[in-house]
Amino acid sequence: MVLFEAGRHDRPKPGEMLAAVAQGLLRQLGVWTPFLAAAFVDNRAVASAWAGEAHDERHSIFSAQGAGWQLDRARFDQLLVQATAAAGAQVRLGSAVRSAVREGQGWRLNLADGDIVASAVIWAAGRSWKLARSFGAKLRVHGHLAAYTRFFDRAPGDCRMVIEARPEGWWYSADLPDRRRVVACLTDPDLGHELRDPKSWYHAMAATRLIAPLLPPGARETATLVKSAGTATVDPAAGERWVAAGDSLFAADPLSSRGIVHALRSGILAAYAASDMVDGRDELARTRYAMIASQGFANYASALAAHYAAAARWDTAFWQRRLPHPEGPTK
Ligand SMILES: Cc1cc2nc3c(=O)[nH]c(=O)nc-3n(C[C@H](O)[C@H](O)[C@H](O)COP(=O)(O)OP(=O)(O)OC[C@H]3O[C@@H](n4cnc5c(N)ncnc54)[C@H](O)[C@@H]3O)c2cc1C
Repeated sequence: MVLFEAGRHDRPKPGEMLAAVAQGLLRQLGVWTPFLAAAFVDNRAVASAWAGEAHDERHSIFSAQGAGWQLDRARFDQLLVQATAAAGAQVRLGSAVRSAVREGQGWRLNLADGDIVASAVIWAAGRSWKLARSFGAKLRVHGHLAAYTRFFDRAPGDCRMVIEARPEGWWYSADLPDRRRVVACLTDPDLGHELRDPKSWYHAMAATRLIAPLLPPGARETATLVKSAGTATVDPAAGERWVAAGDSLFAADPLSSRGIVHALRSGILAAYAASDMVDGRDELARTRYAMIASQGFANYASALAAHYAAAARWDTAFWQRRLPHPEGPTK
């Protein structure tokens, strides 16, 4: 088995909140012990100003599943790659798959340093859908959103995830290991151009009630990132000797906080499906995987719409677009 990774997991990346339910998946992957040793931040509470001006705080001590974690994503991704190598896979970092063409039963993958033939492919390239054309898959964009994110150090933490709805969209912040902090504003890409400008971003951030006080005067900005964050799926979920997993299969709005758990779960299921394909059970593997994948998306859209509608109290474009349509959903 070979893992091709375009990057090197050495850059800041958003997606920090790992739900407690991930514990079972991390155990299944055999990475629970190194995960604990990595000493990520135990999430103690989620504080929010969402449906109204009032501030709500939910403490993880009252959750049956226990506390989740606030991750250093680069370090978390490195940990998974190390476990993949320890399990016997060949890991090639800095190796982007550029295209794929059918060869025999499998696929010829084209990389900058040559081609490789694979008997099956798990397509887990995140929100990069460049390989969709090679696999004959269709990308379906269900909603647009962009994240204007800044990372800081010298920012002491309080082990809380904080979410705040604002007229322009919504903000979140969490403290990360090593006195680091992430702060992001999520809005529609056509409304957020100004947030690329540091002055506008800091001006909008200063108007938040819960987020702004989290950044002490000594905090220092270390990185900035603009990333698309809307909802998208691919169809089909799997095809001839290929299986989509993680965001490549179903990229969720970060408000759902489900992306990493979905990536871990679908990655495990995709491995079973790919192994069934190689063993000659192609049709069964594809049908079963597509069925499981569609279940994952079933309740998502209505739950997300209800969540947004609950906060839609401003007469601004971002929230007006999220009001329930009187004649039902538009097509
Ligand atoms: C602003 C923001 C906040 C978020 N917050 C949360 C959160 O709090 N909790 C949560 O659970 N989720 C969150 N998410 C979602 C979460 O980050 C993703 O769902 C998760 O990272 C998906 O994992 P993945 O492995 O599918 O994709 P990724 O983590 O994107 O990994 C895909 C990898 O594929 C590599 N790659 C891309 N193209 C190629 C190629 N052609 N060849 C080889 N390698 C390639 C990339 O370099 C990358 O390392 C957030 C997302 C955003 C945008």
